[in-house]
Amino acid sequence: MTVVLIAFIISIMTGDYSISDTHSEALKFLFSDVRYLKGIGPSKAKVLREYNLNSILDLFFYVPRKYLDHSKIAPISQLVEGETVTIIGEVTSYGFTYGRKRRYIVNIKDQTGHLELVWFSGYKYLDGLFEEGDVLSVTGKVGFYDGYQITHPEFEIISGSDDQPIHTQRIIPVYPETAILRKIKLHSRGLRRVIKQALDQLKNIHCETLPKELRQKFGLLGLGEAIAQVHFPDSPEAVERGHNRLAFEELFYLELLLAARHQKRVAQEPGISFPPPKRLGRKLLDNLNFELTGAQKKVLNEIYADMEKPHPMNRLLQGDVGCGKTVVALLTMLGAVEAGYQAALMAPTEVLAEQHGFSLAKMLDGFDINVVVFTGSVTGKKRQALLDKIASGEINIVIGTHTLIQAKVEFAKLGLIVVDEQHKFGVAQRGILKKKGLYPDTLVMTATPIPRTLAMTAYGDLDVSIINQMPPGRIPIKTSFVPIEKQDKMNEFIAEQVGAGRQVYIVYPLVEESEKIDLKAAKESYEAFKADIFPDMNLALLHGRMKGIEKNKVMVNFKAGKIDIIIATIVIEVGLDVPNANVMVIEHAERFGLSQLHQLRGRIGRGTHQSYCFLLSDSKPTKEAEARIATLCGTNDGFKIAEADMAIRGPGEIMGTRQHGLPELKVANLMDAEMLSLARQSAFEIISTDELLMKSDNRLLREVLINKYGKKIKYSKIA
Ligand code: ADP
Ligand code: MG
Repeated sequence: MTVVLIAFIISIMTGDYSISDTHSEALKFLFSDVRYLKGIGPSKAKVLREYNLNSILDLFFYVPRKYLDHSKIAPISQLVEGETVTIIGEVTSYGFTYGRKRRYIVNIKDQTGHLELVWFSGYKYLDGLFEEGDVLSVTGKVGFYDGYQITHPEFEIISGSDDQPIHTQRIIPVYPETAILRKIKLHSRGLRRVIKQALDQLKNIHCETLPKELRQKFGLLGLGEAIAQVHFPDSPEAVERGHNRLAFEELFYLELLLAARHQKRVAQEPGISFPPPKRLGRKLLDNLNFELTGAQKKVLNEIYADMEKPHPMNRLLQGDVGCGKTVVALLTMLGAVEAGYQAALMAPTEVLAEQHGFSLAKMLDGFDINVVVFTGSVTGKKRQALLDKIASGEINIVIGTHTLIQAKVEFAKLGLIVVDEQHKFGVAQRGILKKKGLYPDTLVMTATPIPRTLAMTAYGDLDVSIINQMPPGRIPIKTSFVPIEKQDKMNEFIAEQVGAGRQVYIVYPLVEESEKIDLKAAKESYEAFKADIFPDMNLALLHGRMKGIEKNKVMVNFKAGKIDIIIATIVIEVGLDVPNANVMVIEHAERFGLSQLHQLRGRIGRGTHQSYCFLLSDSKPTKEAEARIATLCGTNDGFKIAEADMAIRGPGEIMGTRQHGLPELKVANLMDAEMLSLARQSAFEIISTDELLMKSDNRLLREVLINKYGKKIKYSKIA
């Protein structure tokens, strides 16, 4: 253990890097353990560590939840019941009184009158604290009970102290409090004291974590000033300026870390250089019955440029549902195939894998390319035969689900991985698949589009390509909420559409805890639709508990037009592509998240006929659900929907940032696109000219980066 630790320390110390600058001393203070602060000690420090508050700098970044304005000082004679004020007065008496209830009372006076302070708890702390003649600064809401009084005031004894007040007489910070923090007496009062103490020390050291050029360029406060203003502000405006500076610092160092990792991957990891697939690519384009859109061409150029480099591609392809990512994925895979490598396409569900198998087979008609679908439904001898063929290299393209990452699956020459609907997979799963090849290129695809800088940050060191254009001729989907009394009418409308040759999806949610009930609901509706509502039509039920083969049969029949209406659970959420289907009914729409609703709706609107999406709900939706439904009725734009979703749920939730190994942000907001872009740009610029931050100008950055992320960056060359 010790050996490892020493090796690690040496590894981060290598290079012509030595702590001799003036700022090093100060940095040592900032990154020192909180337990060295007066009033903290090892046991409290242990609790703080659970909150990721390890160093003094962490503590500084533990920003107040809100502020209280205690700056208004009033003489006692001018007190008004119900107002919150600060009073300065001298203690005239103190002690317990016993009435119906035990109380602790302190009487104070100023030149204009007397005031009573009352506590009903906290005696242990209070008793012995005051002396006659002590000058107190007291803040609280004025009450009246046989004279003016304040119960449980904020207070501090200001006589005999040169310290600035921190609980009264000013705008004071209120910190996010938790039961545990309160238990170890680090409620706001305790935190104020500790942070003030650290801040005073900081002011003596003149400490800085951002280079002057950056601060000047973006008009940022110095570190000490920023921390002072965030914790003990002069004014609300000052809070904002302090906040800005801390937020920028957080984003900047995060981006610096990402830039360093990115640079390392681009410059160092060996990979395969694939020339663009001239022969197969041309042939495929000739085969298609459509032209690629400009956006598809643009992202393909980005992808091919990446693939040609002798380093692994790590690219995210974003594009709204229906924008045509599949053909781009295929053209990417052809790059590997033409160079004699295998490609794997991983999808989150069997239905989607089958669907991809179907589309690829169609597009590759007349090609000498072996494509197989390998899912959990392939069993027995057939399975072994497939495994053998994949291992021998006979198969060029393997499409599968999680099954692809099983230990038994071995590739002869895996050169490219495509992951569809990547948000459904963990980073680890992607990693396992990668290890089956030798530094293969990776393309991950998602239909939850988010702003580029945010995507690049949230998804670590992925490069991002965006398809921001729909294939021509698409007619925007009409979406509406259908109240119960109009559902008969909707059914009539559906019958008309089917009569005209169209096809329909009716979807029921499947929430885990009530899976059985929902399944029952879907089955019952299926029976009811079949018997009463649409007796003349071909209906089919599709749900997650069906066997792969059965599911597949339904899908094939639906695609072939043999089924008019599919009654389905969530399994159809992703990827299905039946352009003739133009009606989507979503039952219990209130239960779905925004992006799910948008994904579901994306199953229609793919053909030449006007499409309709109907949202149903038989219970009264919550305010949030109502907002989601309204958003969906209002726009078809996936970017707008993703943004609305982030506003409702927060970006971390949506992108699973933790899962992606991003450090937690304490002050900054990833949604602040402008600041994020500036921080990213600055960081990448610096790394592009000084990859290892070895120049003397960049020494501060290097030191702070190592201190902030030491453990996390050991795999980048900087460490
Ligand atoms: P998604 O991006 O949601 O995966 P798909 O790849 O399934 O979208 O494409 C949706 C539909 O659009 C498919 O039927 C596909 O054949 C068709 N398509 C893709 N690109 C084009 C294009 N450039 N012009 C016309 N249709 C296209
Ligand atoms: Mg797709």
